[in-house]
Amino acid sequence: MKSDQIREHLAFAAELGVDGVSRDPAWRKRESAGPPAHRADPARPADPAPVTVFANAADALVAIRTDIGDCTRCKLHTLGRTQIVFGVGNPDADLMFVGEAPGADEDIQGFPFVGRAGQLLTKIIEAIDLKREEVYIANVIKCRPPGNRNPEQDEVETCEPFLFRQIDVIKPKVIVALGKFGAQTLLRTLDPISRLRGRVFEYRGAKLVPTFHPAYLLRNPSSKREVWEDMKLVRSLLQTC
Ligand code: URA
Repeated sequence: MKSDQIREHLAFAAELGVDGVSRDPAWRKRESAGPPAHRADPARPADPAPVTVFANAADALVAIRTDIGDCTRCKLHTLGRTQIVFGVGNPDADLMFVGEAPGADEDIQGFPFVGRAGQLLTKIIEAIDLKREEVYIANVIKCRPPGNRNPEQDEVETCEPFLFRQIDVIKPKVIVALGKFGAQTLLRTLDPISRLRGRVFEYRGAKLVPTFHPAYLLRNPSSKREVWEDMKLVRSLLQTC
């Protein structure tokens, strides 16, 4: 190689980031020789965290529950919660119900919708010929807000990623959002539940149907008729999706 060719070659190598050459023949056999992109480069973004593949949805849900741990991410852990209420039901459910947050009974028992509203939810599920164990039930918020107050924005923002992970693992065909809070939170809207209910929304690969919360139905039994209409819509979506 002529000297001007060598100069050009070295200049090009420098542009690539080569910071030196060795004339030692052993250097060419070194283990670490590899394409420049594989060498340590502080400007190069870190490799993404390895993705864990789970054998089944049940194992993936256990992993989410383990990640939540004895959660102290938001202030609700200092405000009298007894325990985290993760979710319950069939990890492979076609139908998932999402409520607002645990109440007093759920906080004590550790399962969603086990109080009076929960008993009504069980009847609503059975009205479309399903058993409670066949569906999955969870809440936007996993800890009881004090005095059953509405969850606050920081609590929702902290907790909802775990609900999203549950939905992504279960991959339900249909999600029923129970009540104003669940529906508005999932759909990122302030539209009233009376405008949202009875409609079908695309949501994380599922069809989402908002309906009235069972606790609202306990106070307003005449709205059961609308919920029945919504559940017939859910049943037909389950048959066609
Ligand atoms: N209300 C909810 O929104 N969730 C429950 O788990 C119980 C009551």
